Amino acid sequence: MERLTEGECFLCGGSFTKRGMGRHLESCRKENFSVEREGKTIHLRVSGRHRPEYWMHLAVKPETTLEELRPFPNRHRA
Ligand SMILES: [Zn+2]
Repeated sequence: MERLTEGECFLCGGSFTKRGMGRHLESCRKENFSVEREGKTIHLRVSGRHRPEYWMHLAVKPETTLEELRPFPNRHRA
C-alpha cells in the first residue's frame, strides 16, 4: 500500500495528501489561479517511479520543453 505523504499547495498554502491534492487543485485553481494573469497552462503530475512518496503537480506553459523541466527537481532539492 502506498504511504500517504502530504504536500503543500503553493496557491493557497494548504496541506493535502497525494491523492487529495489532485481533487483540491481542481477547486483551488478556480479561486486562486487566473488564466488571464498567468497564461494558459497544462497540468503535469510527477511521481517517483521507485519512490512514490515524492510527487508534485506542476502548471506549465504548453510550449515548455522537457529539457526546460529537467533541472526543476534538482533546483528544489532540500
Ligand atoms: Zn490550494
